[in-house]
Amino acid sequence: MKSSVIIVGGGITGISTAENLRREGINVTLIDKIEPGDEKQTSYGNAGLLAISSIIPISSPNLWKKLPKYLFSSNSPVSIKWSYFPKLLKWLVPFMKNCSKEKFLSIVNSLNELTYDSVNQHKLLSKGTKAEKYIKTGDVKVLFKSKNDFLILEDEFNLRKKYGFNFFHLNRQEILINDPLISSNYNFALSFPNHGWLTSPSKYIKTLKDHFVDNGGKFLKDEVLNLEENFILTKDSGKLKADKIVVCAGVWSGKFLKKIDHFVNIESEKGYHIVLKNVNHMPPSPYMINDLKLAVTPMEKGLRFAGRVEFSGVDSSPSEEQFQIIRNGIRNIYPKLKWEGEEIWSGQRPSTTDSLPVLGESRKHQNLYFAFGGQHVGMTIGPKLGKITTDLIIGRKPNVSLSEFSHDRF
Ligand SMILES: Cc1cc2nc3c(=O)[nH]c(=O)nc-3n(C[C@H](O)[C@H](O)[C@H](O)COP(=O)(O)OP(=O)(O)OC[C@H]3O[C@@H](n4cnc5c(N)ncnc54)[C@H](O)[C@@H]3O)c2cc1C
Repeated sequence: MKSSVIIVGGGITGISTAENLRREGINVTLIDKIEPGDEKQTSYGNAGLLAISSIIPISSPNLWKKLPKYLFSSNSPVSIKWSYFPKLLKWLVPFMKNCSKEKFLSIVNSLNELTYDSVNQHKLLSKGTKAEKYIKTGDVKVLFKSKNDFLILEDEFNLRKKYGFNFFHLNRQEILINDPLISSNYNFALSFPNHGWLTSPSKYIKTLKDHFVDNGGKFLKDEVLNLEENFILTKDSGKLKADKIVVCAGVWSGKFLKKIDHFVNIESEKGYHIVLKNVNHMPPSPYMINDLKLAVTPMEKGLRFAGRVEFSGVDSSPSEEQFQIIRNGIRNIYPKLKWEGEEIWSGQRPSTTDSLPVLGESRKHQNLYFAFGGQHVGMTIGPKLGKITTDLIIGRKPNVSLSEFSHDRF
């Protein structure tokens, strides 16, 4: 008889795990309380960047220097809801401790293991499915106000180079060749070749889910209430049994693990996007705007501006102020841009204190696996997390060391 696996959570991590396991001949049930690709998922509204070179965690040794600006400047890319601050401390203190040079370099190394081949991982996942068409490849550019702004961060970019992510310098004239509407605020850029992006993260996931179901996978729309070894308890279907269970519930995974006496230090980094519809201009490829920490991605629906980090707890409502900050940013980047209508969205990055996901088998319970915590690069690494989890479940040795990702490291 075929072995069976239940996967909790149908974001990019869950669907990647489900489809990889299905291809190995396993009887897979993917469970989510919402439809995969729904706007309540973090996987719906991200910037869509397949950010293979995003190996520098926010907890870098330079963070101490940046901290006053991050905490108190009116144009900071980070904001904290001060009433939430006391609760945030249990995450923030260990997060800051990870800024030591030694820990930082080890995190960079581990992130690279997950990102470096991620464009290829997405291509393998979507090969032969209708989702292939949502993947674009090309340059991603980082825009700076001046070359000086780049020089302040040169060490971090050189570290990326050391890992094989080469980049080219562009002056203002070279930026304008491909994008004449970029404001005169931006005078220097780095161009990173061989990156990728998705033109609709939502449709990409929906299409992968349809392919999974059309080819024998099972999707159940239900809320999972609890877990046990080989069992899950759902709201509508009651107790369901499987040989193995995988938790891919994004930022909500921490709550589950608590119920089964596992502690992972995960926090919501709330992010926001605005999609401008019917724009009079689309850049040919995405940007990362260094000072604003906003990504600008040409997508099917329009031009998406995504970013912001807000610490306000997983259950807080989106804040209108964050949208206003993005709107101001848009005017800064593209003063002459025109559009008709906007979509606004907010979602939650699942972020651990060391910026690494939780990945692998439970050390407390048999037949229980975890794949969550992709923080700022969760869309990029989802297929790789799915592949590694599949390897573990079918007994194939993954080609990545997993101790750094263990649930019991916190
Ligand atoms: C503004 C912004 C920009 C970003 N840009 C990028 C980017 O450019 N590139 C990149 O790589 N990453 C980016 N990210 C990060 C990325 O979006 C996330 O890391 C990633 O989507 C997480 O995917 P996931 O599958 O782990 O979680 P999710 O997509 O959140 O999916 C988790 C699923 O679990 C389900 N679930 C939870 N609890 C239960 C339950 N009890 N029962 C049933 N189902 C349950 C939820 O309904 C949900 O569907 C960005 C994030 C934000 C906010």
